[in-house]
Amino acid sequence: MSKGNIGVTSDNIFPVIKKFLYSDHEIFLRELISNAVDATQKLKTLSTAGAFKGELGDVRVRVRIDKDKKTLTVSDHGIGMTAEEVDKYINQIAFSGAEEFVNQYKDKAEAIIGHFGLGFYSAFMVADKVEIFSQSYDENAKAVHWSCEGNPEYQMEETIKSERGTDVVLHINDEFSQYLEDATIEGLLKKYCKFLPVEIAFGMKKEWKDGKQVETGEENIVNNTTPAWTKKPADLKDEDYKAFYRELYPMQFDEPLFHIHLNVDYPFHLTGILYFPKIKNNLDVHRNKIQLYCNQVFVTDEVSNIVPEYLTLLHGVIDSPDIPLNVSRSYLQSDNNVKKISSHITKKVADKLAELYKNDRADFEKKWDDIKLFIQFGMLSDEKFYDRAIGFALMKNVDKQYFTLDEYKAKVKDAQTDKNGDLIMLYAQDADACYTYIQRAKEKGYDVLLMDGELDVHAMSQFEQKNTEYGTDGEEKKGALRFVRVDSDVIENLIVKEDKAAVNLTAEEEDALRYSFEGLLPKSEKTNYVVSLENVSADALPVFLTQNEWMRRMKEMSAHQQGMSFYGQMPDSYNLVVNIAHPKVQALLAEIKQATGNSLDELNQQVEVLRKEQEAQKDKKDEPKEGEEKRDLTKEIAALREQIKQHYEGKAKENDKVSQLLDIAFLASGLLKGEALAKFVNRSVELL
Ligand code: ADP
Repeated sequence: MSKGNIGVTSDNIFPVIKKFLYSDHEIFLRELISNAVDATQKLKTLSTAGAFKGELGDVRVRVRIDKDKKTLTVSDHGIGMTAEEVDKYINQIAFSGAEEFVNQYKDKAEAIIGHFGLGFYSAFMVADKVEIFSQSYDENAKAVHWSCEGNPEYQMEETIKSERGTDVVLHINDEFSQYLEDATIEGLLKKYCKFLPVEIAFGMKKEWKDGKQVETGEENIVNNTTPAWTKKPADLKDEDYKAFYRELYPMQFDEPLFHIHLNVDYPFHLTGILYFPKIKNNLDVHRNKIQLYCNQVFVTDEVSNIVPEYLTLLHGVIDSPDIPLNVSRSYLQSDNNVKKISSHITKKVADKLAELYKNDRADFEKKWDDIKLFIQFGMLSDEKFYDRAIGFALMKNVDKQYFTLDEYKAKVKDAQTDKNGDLIMLYAQDADACYTYIQRAKEKGYDVLLMDGELDVHAMSQFEQKNTEYGTDGEEKKGALRFVRVDSDVIENLIVKEDKAAVNLTAEEEDALRYSFEGLLPKSEKTNYVVSLENVSADALPVFLTQNEWMRRMKEMSAHQQGMSFYGQMPDSYNLVVNIAHPKVQALLAEIKQATGNSLDELNQQVEVLRKEQEAQKDKKDEPKEGEEKRDLTKEIAALREQIKQHYEGKAKENDKVSQLLDIAFLASGLLKGEALAKFVNRSVELL
């Protein structure tokens, strides 16, 4: 028997292992099983090369729990270790310069583990004592028994072991008794070992018999040793990919739309299969489903440091021995291999989409609604991806036709360029609610896009920013590209073809119309209405609501973006446009004028007099004479105007047409509800 001290630096290593790895202690099982699998693979390699001439025999790795002895054992029939090898690989765990490194990275224990291959020592996170029983494949070597109690002292002695390979026995610390539970170990095996290349056995298979679970005579193998991504794409059918998807996500019932099989040898190694899920809305449910493996050992499903954020929406598996494991996140992001892998995946994904678009446009259009969110997210968050995707990103119009941006520009540019040369793209977010507006646009020969997706508002803003000078390919650049919601104004105002006719009403006529409508508008803190009189067109609606495009979009975007909540809190603001070119409005005006007669003449004259006085006062700056009080003309005028306003409000209430026109405006914008709607219906019946 020999005793000794584990490599110089281990004084530092044990506390580091115990203290800093506490949060991630379950990885000990992954590390030990990985070693067992490596040892088995090495033996297979030796056998293939002819260096090992014996029988490989049973090479399963077995995990066993002994509750009485409080031990957990990982056994393999791999290459084994001689006493010299245990000394070299286990005792001399540190290379030269290690001490320095340990000091430097004291608080980054994960980095140490990764760099130094301290995998085996992670057993001390959960065990008070660890033993190794090993018999090398070299039959001349004696079996060795090593044990250590979590301090730099170890014991090593000769032993007898009939079978080739290594047993690692962990005497589990009382604090970690969960690792003596079948369910815990089963769970960890499922998580880390599901696709290891060597069979891992844990207990016996169970089956239901007479209402009870009983053990069968068969060992319970926890893993699939040849998962789809390790096979050649040529050997797999579409059905195999779908079956593997179900194996990865047994709880996911939607089938993936398509997949990408990754297979890179140079300049780094990468294999894997990525799936495109159907993403209708709710980005978050799809995140972090990609699993990262290193030679079939599960590492993490936190891949956000390895692939750009939008790619985390994909599902599937990435396997690369070139991604440094167990290192800090910030380190990972700056790692050169990781950067290369990330841009490779981005490129592959874009290539695949471009290929699908090119090969079968009709099929691509069918899938578009399900991949749109993903592609928009990519375009919004990654310039490079935008540049690639702009060639196949589609827009859908209300007639369910699909266009790329360039195709659409070409389609609408003749009809929808305004007097300033800007190209106006009309869109609706809800085709039903905007039906009348869409019809009007179509009558004018315009086209309307359907922008009902979660990221459409952002996507439109991005297109606008990138097309401040638009022009289809190879064309001279002209005006800007603008998206305008089809119901945000009357069509004549959305795409202004010529300068608008002036409003030629007298001041009294303006009062009559403005105050009549203002008086009957609903009053609410959440919504502001401003009446504006405009000479729109005889065939537009007589009265209608419009909403400022920019303000509305800001409010919509604020729902998704932090730091924009200011916009979200602003009240909604609408313009009530009274179209004075419309015969119904002109008729209404005539009626109000008639009902008013000359009853307001006196008031109007008084206002006129006061205004003149006010003008005159503005010019002279002299102070009021002594004893004379300063008159507040503004206040006096306001009081008189209030009377005029009251008058028209009264007249408006007597005239059903004002309410009727207002209700039609609200109805056309989908804003007429509840009691107001019921009143409208009743009044309409009366008016018939
Ligand atoms: P790593 O596996 O990263 O090299 P470990 O500390 O886990 O680091 O193991 C150190 C070395 O000990 C391994 O490289 C291997 O040579 C040897 N070893 C560990 N476990 C086994 C095993 N079950 N069978 C044979 N050799 C082993």
